[in-house]
Amino acid sequence: MNIVVLGLPGAGKGTQSRRIALEKGLFYFEAGGFLRELAKDDSNLRETINSGKLIPDDQMSELVFNYLDGIKDKHKGILFDGYPRSVSQYNDLFKWISKKGKKIDLIFYFDLPVEEAVKRLSSRRICPVCGRVYNLITDPPKKDSLCDSCGVDLLQRDDDKEDIIRERFAKQKESILPLIKLLDKNDNFFRIDASQSIEDVYEDVVSIIEEHEQPYINQNKK
Ligand code: AMP
Repeated sequence: MNIVVLGLPGAGKGTQSRRIALEKGLFYFEAGGFLRELAKDDSNLRETINSGKLIPDDQMSELVFNYLDGIKDKHKGILFDGYPRSVSQYNDLFKWISKKGKKIDLIFYFDLPVEEAVKRLSSRRICPVCGRVYNLITDPPKKDSLCDSCGVDLLQRDDDKEDIIRERFAKQKESILPLIKLLDKNDNFFRIDASQSIEDVYEDVVSIIEEHEQPYINQNKK
């Protein structure tokens, strides 16, 4: 099963996607994390990300498919978090996946009011050692601003500062909203209310996935 998770930054895509991919045996592809890793050795990429702009569509799709074509891990499909983020990227993914004889089974859009997302993002902190993501309001560390497991100071991503967050929103809304409009008519597109608790969002998403897994299970039983 291949799943796409869409949403503006701060909607909670990462938290849910990581957990669901693990539970469902899917390869977890997180576009932002993938790019930040590449950007360590690429100053142009670093500059684009830190300024809150998007990587141009052609370059983005090429980077993604080069990487995914090289993956050797065994998995039951891919969960795409943060890619595609525009109509053009969606069309690229659609072609790439169709060529492999597969399809995008489910698409979720995590819907969250902009002000709520800004509040969430500006209080996000990350452990530089284990990568655990905290939120100073909803999921704070036990002590000061130190990671519960590693004991090191938590960091704020450069692009999680408020002025950059607003720039990221402006750019991403411009490209993601036409995609949502296009997908809205599809049977495999589901809008999730991302302002709910983490557990309620999780249950909404998993119940939809399980409804759609059923035909595969029944086919295997025959
Ligand atoms: P994120 O961690 O998802 O907020 O992504 C961080 C940054 O990576 C974004 O602000 C963009 O600069 C870049 N990025 C992530 N995903 C994409 C994408 N699908 N297309 C273009 N740029 C992206």
